[in-house]
Amino acid sequence: MVGKIVKNILKNPKHIVTIANAWITAANPTTEQKELAERRYSICLGCEHFREKRPVTGEPYCAECGCPMKKKIFTNVFNECPVGKWKEVDSDVKYDNFFKRDIPVKNSKTLF
Ligand code: SF4
Repeated sequence: MVGKIVKNILKNPKHIVTIANAWITAANPTTEQKELAERRYSICLGCEHFREKRPVTGEPYCAECGCPMKKKIFTNVFNECPVGKWKEVDSDVKYDNFFKRDIPVKNSKTLF
């Protein structure tokens, strides 16, 4: 479980920034961030990878990526679910400004 998180960080060290951002947001979310997190969490509750209690800490976690759910649901990465189940809810345009995107979105104001 925690080993999966460490493996992910070793594979992609930038992932630690993603995790830190999610923890910071979880500590003091805006109303919209909280709403999105709750919508993501409701998807997790119906997922085969969701586990209600991590041994020792007793917190809910994702068996696929090892992340603690109560923090992961606040990530600012689009569809960060390891099996892509958050895509539909994250695509809701009202959350669009939450996400950092690797590829800039081209629009009428974009020069290149
Ligand atoms: S993050 Fe994705 S894979 Fe993990 S429990 Fe939630 S829906 Fe399932």
